[in-house]
Amino acid sequence: MTSRSPARTSPIPSSESVSHRMSRQARRDTAPELELRRELHRRGLRFRVSLSPVRHVRSTPDLVFTRSKLAVFVDGCFWHSCPKHGTMPAANRDWWRQKLERNEARDRATDEALAAAGWRVIRVWEHETAPDAADRIETIVRQRPLRPER
Ligand SMILES: [Zn+2]
Repeated sequence: MTSRSPARTSPIPSSESVSHRMSRQARRDTAPELELRRELHRRGLRFRVSLSPVRHVRSTPDLVFTRSKLAVFVDGCFWHSCPKHGTMPAANRDWWRQKLERNEARDRATDEALAAAGWRVIRVWEHETAPDAADRIETIVRQRPLRPER
């Protein structure tokens, strides 16, 4: 007797399935992001998480310092083409190249839209240590506006 499964699974293009799997993993509350949040809390810095500060900006910053008008993104090395660790998958290379280039273009557009609305943007690589990233952030947050009192 032969047993053949009547159900045939149609193969999903590998890039699509990998992309789907990785984008689910790449969502917020990643380990580097949580570590950074803990470090900032230790330093007494307070922020909002995943708040859209500006309408019409599709990408939501990971951390927002509303009083300082500072938006912080924690960027994954793969998805945002880190110069140190960014890689191009060998399979379906063109598909990936286009996808990663679109990500980069979207990042730049997001930065420009936030800047146009008077926001400062810090992008932290996931490979940066939490203290290093926190230093950069703290420097800006601790800046006091200059007051013309003399
Ligand atoms: Zn990296």
